[in-house]
Amino acid sequence: MVNIAAAPDWAELIGELDDGSSLIVVVDDDFVVRAASEEALATFGLPKSDTLGMSAVDLIHAGDLDRAVGAFSEAVAHPGIRPADLYRLRIGPGHYRSFDVSGETLMEGRVVAFRLTDLTERRRAEQLALEQIEVLELLSSGTSRNACLVELANLCERHIEGSLAIIHVENPDGLLEPVTTGPVSRLVLNRWLGTSVKDAGGNLGEAESRRLSHVELDLQPLPHWQSATAALAEAGHSSCVTTPALSPSGEVVGYLEVLRLGAERPSNGELAVHGLVGRLIGLILDRLSFEAALSEAAFTDDLTGLGNRRQMYEDIEALSKRGEPFGLLGIDLDQFAWINNNLGHAAGDALLVEVARRLESSLPSNATAFRQGGDEFVVLVARERRAEDLLAVAKGLLGALREPFTLGSTERRINASIGIAQSMGDGDIDSVLAQADAAMYSAKREGGAGVRLFSEPIGQELMRHMSLAGELQSAIENGELRLVFQPIVRLDTLAITGIEALVRWEHPVRGLLGPGEFVPLAEESSLILELDEWVIGEAGARLDRWSAGRAAGDRIQMWVNVSARSVMRADLVEMIERASKSGLGTLGVELTERDRIDHRGSAIATFNRLRDKGVPIAIDDFGTGRASLHRVVDFEPDVIKIDRSFVRRMVDTPRSRVVVESIIDLAGRLGATVTAEGVEDHRQLSLLQELGCQDAQGFLLGRPMLPSHVETAFGPDLKGHWSATEAPARRASSFLA
Ligand code: C2E
Ligand code: MG
Ligand code: MG
Repeated sequence: MVNIAAAPDWAELIGELDDGSSLIVVVDDDFVVRAASEEALATFGLPKSDTLGMSAVDLIHAGDLDRAVGAFSEAVAHPGIRPADLYRLRIGPGHYRSFDVSGETLMEGRVVAFRLTDLTERRRAEQLALEQIEVLELLSSGTSRNACLVELANLCERHIEGSLAIIHVENPDGLLEPVTTGPVSRLVLNRWLGTSVKDAGGNLGEAESRRLSHVELDLQPLPHWQSATAALAEAGHSSCVTTPALSPSGEVVGYLEVLRLGAERPSNGELAVHGLVGRLIGLILDRLSFEAALSEAAFTDDLTGLGNRRQMYEDIEALSKRGEPFGLLGIDLDQFAWINNNLGHAAGDALLVEVARRLESSLPSNATAFRQGGDEFVVLVARERRAEDLLAVAKGLLGALREPFTLGSTERRINASIGIAQSMGDGDIDSVLAQADAAMYSAKREGGAGVRLFSEPIGQELMRHMSLAGELQSAIENGELRLVFQPIVRLDTLAITGIEALVRWEHPVRGLLGPGEFVPLAEESSLILELDEWVIGEAGARLDRWSAGRAAGDRIQMWVNVSARSVMRADLVEMIERASKSGLGTLGVELTERDRIDHRGSAIATFNRLRDKGVPIAIDDFGTGRASLHRVVDFEPDVIKIDRSFVRRMVDTPRSRVVVESIIDLAGRLGATVTAEGVEDHRQLSLLQELGCQDAQGFLLGRPMLPSHVETAFGPDLKGHWSATEAPARRASSFLA
């Protein structure tokens, strides 16, 4: 046996290990407890002298003992491994609680230090996460600021027994004002009334300067509590925790004072409640808060800053409701695909941004520009009856686009085609949009660089020619669809852990089409069911091939996108089960948040069945839809995919960074992992790593590729890792993005 007497000072070792986040127990290689943190001793109800020398066996539930001893021997035999598992541990005679236990071998295998986390705390955290969602939802539903703050004070009081929460916020004059719920004496409440955050002293001043919770265990003798001591004594409150509310940009904008019954130090779980509530107050007080940032993203095209398709629908709907006439101009750039493919995406993006700027600056005051997606823009001209005036607007736009564009080191001229349709304030929006589209294609077919006004013959001819939906049916039968695959990389190891299947259509005449051009068409009919079924079958077969050479513990996860209509299918679960025949893994299902779910109950039932079959579920494009927070609660996703609009902005925009941080935090509390979408550069990659995001996907890590390219890049069984230095070659080889 090793000479433990020569070991270092146990108290010193415990001091080094104890960061206050968990209980620490140190066990020697004979499984004898040698030392424990104060908190661990208190939890297990043991005086210090007794533990030194007692067998750890006495602490473990008989049913968990074999497993615990096995894991322990393994850890001692192989220093460096860190076993982690759940065990029932004795906290008193006949009384056990579940702990999350992780061990670390120290001193060349002579001792193992265990960190124990009480799962009751974890459950508290889960409950807290759900309530956090509720508060954020209140905020997004238009509930007033004060009502949200009252809700937060309630939340705090529910989680901290016998407590009384007072929130002080800064009013527009920079002075503090109290907000509270329960019966509380004016004496306590108004102590800070009329003081500014800057001048606040006492507990507020402490919290402000530390930017952390400040704990006072005995209020009686403290001068800044003197005016309130009578009221405090009456209510039995003798201690207080004061937490600063920080805005997303890091300023102190208010305070949370929580009065407590006894003189005990708050537990870590309780401090977490204070911290969370402080953060939420900060978000609520920030004028553009979390939800505002979410909904801003939902209505704005992140590249150009113009309104997006959804915003356009809202604006048109508002006009239609009032029965006002309007004109729609559909605009498409004639050489965009060429520029994107030959000069690169950065040049394509720069062009779109400049086009948006020129459109905006040449529009009359009753017109608004939107980006529909790709290189398609729409201009809505409100309250306009005369076709001549719409034609004049269109010609003005063409004029503005005629000047050459500077793209990197070259100058290019581009042409645009514009189609015009009119509504006299009646009829449905989609058909006016379709008419503008049809007129625009007519202009394009006649050589581009022109304007066409919608007319009946254009409608008939083009509807026949351009109805992709009609052709899509035969495309599926004729094998014109393809799948491309985009790797998903684990951020700590840079190994490929997943792959997303994305559909493409090799159209015999129009060339390669992205999903944005035909999936929405398919979604208008039951064709989407056939398309999704085809994708699921193909992806399953590919998964079988890529799983064959991999070990059971090292499965690659293949993800498919399914539309909301497929989720309503009774046989979706069986279809997914059937898709992978080898039984070596299962597909995962991504549901985009933008999809409308009409039958919430049956969708939840489908997701429950999928989960039972071991099919993981991801919420795609998180943050862009309106029901984001509800979905997380309803569908219990395994993965939340942060939409690329946040990833794109997070490096330069503190608010987007806060949103990303909050999503990661929220996901962690709910037991989900986060995949960041659209990672395009190294700064984004390292910030995500820093924030503790688990997985990422994006052009930097690999574009969507044909299967053969995936194998060239990552090996036949996809066991390769992503490496920054090989990335450029990989990018060039994958032209199907
Ligand atoms: P998604 O599921 O969010 O897929 C990610 C999209 O982001 C893909 O576009 C991908 O090419 C693109 N992307 C990936 N990394 C980056 C990046 O770093 N920067 C930028 N700018 N973009 C990146 P894609 O393939 O055009 O797909 C668009 C959407 O169409 C998908 O969004 C998905 O919602 C839908 N979709 C794709 N395949 C299918 C399918 O098989 N069935 C259904 N129902 N929908 C599909
Ligand atoms: Mg997806
Ligand atoms: Mg997505």
